[in-house]
Amino acid sequence: MKEEKILIVDDEQPLREMIIDILKESDYYIDDASDGLEALEKLKRTKYDLLLTDLSMPKLDGLGLLRKAKSLNPDIATIILTGHGTMETVIKALQLGANDFITKPFEVKTLTNIIEKNLISKRFKKENLRLQTQIAKDKEQLRKKVIELSFLRKLGINLSYTFSFTELFNMIFKSLPEHIDYDFSAILNIQKREVKIHPRIIISDKLVLWLKNSMLTEISKFSEDNITADAIEENFTSEKIPIEDAPDIKSYFNTILWIKDKPFGVINISSFKEDAFSESDKEFIKNLAKQSSDTFLRLKAVISSQREKLQFIIDSLPDGIIMYDTNDDSILINPKSIMMIDRRKTREVTKKDIENRLNLDFSELIEETSKNSPLLKEVTLNMGKDDIILEANIASLVNPDGLSQGLVMVFRDVTAERKLDQLKQEFISNVSHELRTPAATIKEFISILNDEIGGTLTSDQREYTEIMSSNIDRLLRLIENLLSISRADSGNLKIKNDRFDLNALIRKISPSLLILLNKKKIKLNLKLPENPLEIYADPDSITQILTNLIDNAKKYSEKNTEVTIGVEDKNNDVLIWISDQGYGISPEKQKDIFKRFYRIESKKEARQEGAGLGLPIIKELIELHKGKIEIDSDIGKGTTFFITLPKDET
Ligand code: ADP
Repeated sequence: MKEEKILIVDDEQPLREMIIDILKESDYYIDDASDGLEALEKLKRTKYDLLLTDLSMPKLDGLGLLRKAKSLNPDIATIILTGHGTMETVIKALQLGANDFITKPFEVKTLTNIIEKNLISKRFKKENLRLQTQIAKDKEQLRKKVIELSFLRKLGINLSYTFSFTELFNMIFKSLPEHIDYDFSAILNIQKREVKIHPRIIISDKLVLWLKNSMLTEISKFSEDNITADAIEENFTSEKIPIEDAPDIKSYFNTILWIKDKPFGVINISSFKEDAFSESDKEFIKNLAKQSSDTFLRLKAVISSQREKLQFIIDSLPDGIIMYDTNDDSILINPKSIMMIDRRKTREVTKKDIENRLNLDFSELIEETSKNSPLLKEVTLNMGKDDIILEANIASLVNPDGLSQGLVMVFRDVTAERKLDQLKQEFISNVSHELRTPAATIKEFISILNDEIGGTLTSDQREYTEIMSSNIDRLLRLIENLLSISRADSGNLKIKNDRFDLNALIRKISPSLLILLNKKKIKLNLKLPENPLEIYADPDSITQILTNLIDNAKKYSEKNTEVTIGVEDKNNDVLIWISDQGYGISPEKQKDIFKRFYRIESKKEARQEGAGLGLPIIKELIELHKGKIEIDSDIGKGTTFFITLPKDET
């Protein structure tokens, strides 16, 4: 049905009546006025779609009326009625925005056609406008959907690591300012009895109280708990600037946050402006909260099914595995670990049980592993008469941001291995002890022979005693090394520190070092500082270290080369270096030579006797002195060992 309103203005009543009569047929709402002023009054009261007006009228003429009508309603269609010979006025009227004109006298058809044509065009314009508004609305809707989706995507990524509802709603809270313009937002966590307030301008205690009450009223509609504002702790996401007479909140809305069908909390958005939020804003937040909570629950279901799979995998592993997740303080533990920890095999082993039983502190481990992962620890479990020794490999579970999310621990029962090691150590220690006395006696008697106390020696006999002497010395060195190693293992390798002059010690032992080198005619150079260099160390250990290193220099160098012992004063430390012109050690082997029983297998080295114990003992002794040993070596050119020792007690 056509409902367009038409106003006909003409001072000639018969003409007006005639026009009304003509248009009666169509379903227009028709009104008329006899002059410009009357027409203007009507235009002010009613929104007409079309104005048909005469030009020359008393009081207010057609052109004046036209101007006023357009300013009152720019969308109105205007047609002017004009007599012959007034073309100039017609042109002026068209310039003023008149849409059309009809010259008097006119035919009925002409009048109806022109009116209909202008109303159709107006209808099109109106429809066009409606469509444009609709498109703008759809666009806005789409924009919000995109925000919602991108938020949900972000949520999906973040939530895999932070599985708590509080975190979820904090995320919504944080993302709000990007999408809605407000002065305050607040989130009430009813479980935690806590409200987080994000004031974008100012806050007053009165406002905080109002916020709390407003949110509590909202949640009380859905929850039985009767909580008062005092019970809610407040927490500010930015600095609180208390201004007692902060303006009043003029518009706000509260959105309940649901988890399934349980209210978890409330989000409040408030503004000091009137009507600050549209229905679509409210709808948007409501949707966001709902969608996030749904996504969260879905993700949680996926994760817990993955957890089940993981549990299945770790259950079938032969080693003990314990995983700890800091997000929900949860533990995954496999039967093997339970057996190690709790022989009764009850499944409900808690984090506390594990910490107590293994004497470990998970928080400390997280801190340690974040610096140094994986960590190797030995744990002894007291099991009545037999202790169980577990070797634990502990690593941090790190999220993509590099933050630790928990621990993964792999336990291996090494009790049998350790027992065997201990037996081996005891055996080595016993055998070395047993060998030491007879070897020392043989050495004693060789020296008696050498001193010709038992009679003069022939030159052949002297040669034999020298061979015997050097071999018994080697045997004694080996025994000493074996004893040192077993002492180190049982924690009994001790040093007896004393204050002495390092230069003097080196000078004192150099003749016996020279004897070692003489066989291969290797020259010994000493590069010692002129002044005495006092250090607080164990002279016997220093002697053992230097003897072992010079022995190695001899073994792994050709005849007629040179060996140098140097000493340098380095303020709080001393640096001792021993350099040879021997075979050298390749870089990849340098890291292994301090391991026990390690020997380089190439032909030249293998010809030399040795047990691979010299360097490990040196390292142990140096570490007991809180010093360090470093190596610089070039294949075919030689090797230098650098020993740094603190001068004083540390
Ligand atoms: P051993 O000499 O009894 O084999 P060590 O622990 O003293 O045992 O040394 C380990 C290995 O390191 C040796 O077997 C040798 O291959 C290498 N090595 C040690 N010192 C030197 C050196 N000065 N020059 C070249 N190789 C060396």
